[in-house]
Amino acid sequence: MTLVTESLLSELRALLGPAQVICAGDALETLSKDFYWYSPVLRRQLEDKRAEAIIRPATVEETRQAVAACCRARVPVVPRGAGTGNYGQCIPLYGGVVIDLSRLDRILSLDDGVARVEPGVRLGAIETAARAIGWELRCMPSTWVKCTVGGFLCGGSGGIGSITWGGTNSPGNVKAVTLLTCEESPRLIRLEEQDCLRALHTYGTTGLMVEVELRLAPKVDYEQLIFSGGNWDRLLDWTDAAARHGTWRKRLVTQFEWPIPSFFKPLRKYLPANEHSTFLLLDRAQADEAAASAVAAGLAVVFRQPLPDPPKPPFITDYTWNHTTLWAIKSDPAYTYLQSGFGQNFREQFAELRRRFPGEILFHLEWTAGNAKMLRGHAAALNPDAVVVGGIPLVCFRSEERLREILQCCADIGVFIANPHTCFLEEGGRHPNIADKRALKDEVDPAGLLNPGKMKTYAHNPFGAPANA
Ligand SMILES: Cc1cc2nc3c(=O)[nH]c(=O)nc-3n(C[C@H](O)[C@H](O)[C@H](O)COP(=O)(O)OP(=O)(O)OC[C@H]3O[C@@H](n4cnc5c(N)ncnc54)[C@H](O)[C@@H]3O)c2cc1C
Repeated sequence: MTLVTESLLSELRALLGPAQVICAGDALETLSKDFYWYSPVLRRQLEDKRAEAIIRPATVEETRQAVAACCRARVPVVPRGAGTGNYGQCIPLYGGVVIDLSRLDRILSLDDGVARVEPGVRLGAIETAARAIGWELRCMPSTWVKCTVGGFLCGGSGGIGSITWGGTNSPGNVKAVTLLTCEESPRLIRLEEQDCLRALHTYGTTGLMVEVELRLAPKVDYEQLIFSGGNWDRLLDWTDAAARHGTWRKRLVTQFEWPIPSFFKPLRKYLPANEHSTFLLLDRAQADEAAASAVAAGLAVVFRQPLPDPPKPPFITDYTWNHTTLWAIKSDPAYTYLQSGFGQNFREQFAELRRRFPGEILFHLEWTAGNAKMLRGHAAALNPDAVVVGGIPLVCFRSEERLREILQCCADIGVFIANPHTCFLEEGGRHPNIADKRALKDEVDPAGLLNPGKMKTYAHNPFGAPANA
């Protein structure tokens, strides 16, 4: 189906300049896709999907006029940041126009612990600018060097820093967002505080985020530490206690089951064969104490290096969160993954998964502060009971049917899965407020043009139900 006409293309070229309207070639393909291929299911479903045109506005005003033109032409409009999403979030299901917002990349202000930025700013740029004046991001994905803030709020959920500050949807982390509506005369709508939750993690279906205000955290100087041990349970006990430690200022607590460490090529010289490992980002002032505690627990400290300020690689974060899956797939393309949240009975849940699927699941765990409550701009004293064990276990893919069995088993034993093998919003995460999100979509996208098909429970889709629904 061709939806984008020559007349719309001419209008967009006149508005943005011909170089900022891409209709063919490798760039069209690349900018139509994200990291959906982590999932063999999505690879099959989305491989042939692409935009008819990619446009690259540089200002909010250009974006407004481009959206107005697309609305008049009634074509799908799919926002895009850096395209590092994993769920096929920014892959258009019906063609149309992808709006690459990465040129809207100005940091507008960094005052009083709040970063006010355009949506295409890379989180790495905010982190560097914030650290220079005594602040840092509260939470960021492991793609922080490259990904955009708009993409993180609309597609991501949390990551580094979430052990202390929770995720994007934890109260207070996002102060305000400004949305551009998808209408013939687009409007700007500002949402504040809790109201922002309606627009977070909605895959670009509820307006184009054109400005963001993020609360920052006071900067900490971190030490990057890796611990190793041959006994999984002993390492798990220590790591879990470290994650729940009431006074250690942590930014990352991650544990890997062997052979996952063997996938981290650049780190191989540090990581002993057949041993599991724990990665920790901790206040440098507390690193000696943590190292001594690990040694006393029978673990080895195999890597220790300050995180440079301003940030400069190597970053141990490059091996954590969903980077782990990337290293695994590079090592063996048969790996895929799950995004999971375990209960306080996580040890039993691991045992049951190992019993049911021996050799098929490798544990990669990430600890976070559940829905962390913030007090006066500071992380609440960590309540050990609020810390949750989640993670991104690797799965040796056998078949889609087997994957469904694993997902079913997780559901049966109370393991929450944000299913990364679907591109539909509601199936890929927890959306207790989906009715609010649908209502916001009604308000900002009356013609149903924004990333159509992704919000599956939104009744008005002018392009018909998606083929894979
Ligand atoms: C190696 C790897 C590691 C990752 N680790 C993490 C992690 O630790 N934590 C995590 O949460 N995620 C993680 N992800 C997923 C992804 O990197 C993050 O969600 C990232 O923040 C997405 O940013 P982006 O700029 O690439 O967004 P994109 O992929 O470009 O877009 C994501 C979604 O947001 C929408 N969108 C983008 N910009 C806007 C805008 N301005 N207005 C409205 N909608 C918009 C798009 O339509 C799309 O639906 C990882 C992915 C990879 C490949």
